[in-house]
Amino acid sequence: MTDEHMLELDGARGEGGGQVLRSALALSAITATPFRIRNIRAGRARPGLLRQHLTAVQAAAAICGAEVSGAEPGSPQLTFRPGAIRGGDYRFAIGTAGSCTLVLQTILPLLWFADAPSSVEVSGGTHNKAAPPADFLIRSWGPLLAQMGLEQHLELLRHGFYPAGGGAMRAAVQPGARLRPLELFARGEFLALRAEARVAGVPGAVARREIAQLQARFDGLRGEVCELSSREGPGNVVLVEVAHAAVVEVFAGFGERGVSAETVADRTGRAVRHYLESGAAVGEHLADQLLLPLALAGGGGFTTTSLSSHLRTNVEVIQRFMPVDIALEEMSGGARVRLSARAAS
Ligand code: ATP
Repeated sequence: MTDEHMLELDGARGEGGGQVLRSALALSAITATPFRIRNIRAGRARPGLLRQHLTAVQAAAAICGAEVSGAEPGSPQLTFRPGAIRGGDYRFAIGTAGSCTLVLQTILPLLWFADAPSSVEVSGGTHNKAAPPADFLIRSWGPLLAQMGLEQHLELLRHGFYPAGGGAMRAAVQPGARLRPLELFARGEFLALRAEARVAGVPGAVARREIAQLQARFDGLRGEVCELSSREGPGNVVLVEVAHAAVVEVFAGFGERGVSAETVADRTGRAVRHYLESGAAVGEHLADQLLLPLALAGGGGFTTTSLSSHLRTNVEVIQRFMPVDIALEEMSGGARVRLSARAAS
């Protein structure tokens, strides 16, 4: 492939974060489009490739036999020339508490289009601030993909919290499904509100106080405490699952030194309340994570609480690789996103 077919991306555009790179890796392999990206994560305090991004590059390259240059720690640029996507048994280690879920969200789309079934294990962080927790992939994102026709099983093997890491997730993927568009313009009937507070190497009282605080704020909330082995910690996460007939949302809060259990629960509760009051089908995070599967399905849409800069940036990247129209419409109390395949001109 000559360089004239090379797509040029500027990692400083929009949010200037890691998503530009991750979406580009997946779409490059799937659409067989080589790309070069400069200014990787230029909008972040520590720009360039961190361990999580580097692992995503190496994993995507291993799965599609890509030729890569610039894949070094801290690198501000990268060239990626994809080859054929091969299914198989893969294992990738981030080596820090970098997010397993973000690496999985980069490479799973490749495996949906592979020539054979795959199993993949990724080790690192499974419950990180500013990334989807493993439970979000398993209970929220994954089931929506299943509705779109994907055959994929996601599993949490071991928790890994920042800064220790050491967690792991496994995915099994059956390729070849024809992706169906998904429309999530309404969330459907309310089914359940439940919370789970987990601690590893942290006193169980912390989890019990988080649950008590959430139960004081939300009538009828079912709560559970889970004390994990201290080998999986130290760490504390509180997860709130909001189930409606059409969609399950998962909100997460993380225990921090110097922040009370009640404050952690209240922060999480505020995000839950914001979602419940908005009436939108999907929250801010699920919104940006549904874009790529919907683009690959050639259509669909959803209502969401807001149009984040993360979502807008992802829209731009996707449209560089695929002929898809993505209409963003702000409405009172939220926004509507619609994707449709662009008619051939
Ligand atoms: P950086 O931007 O520093 O490179 P990054 O590569 O880790 O960081 P971002 O580009 O910020 O990540 O993307 C983070 C992703 O994690 C987004 O898709 C966002 O929606 C998702 N995310 C963040 N917090 C949550 C959460 N609490 N629940 C679900 N998803 C989340």
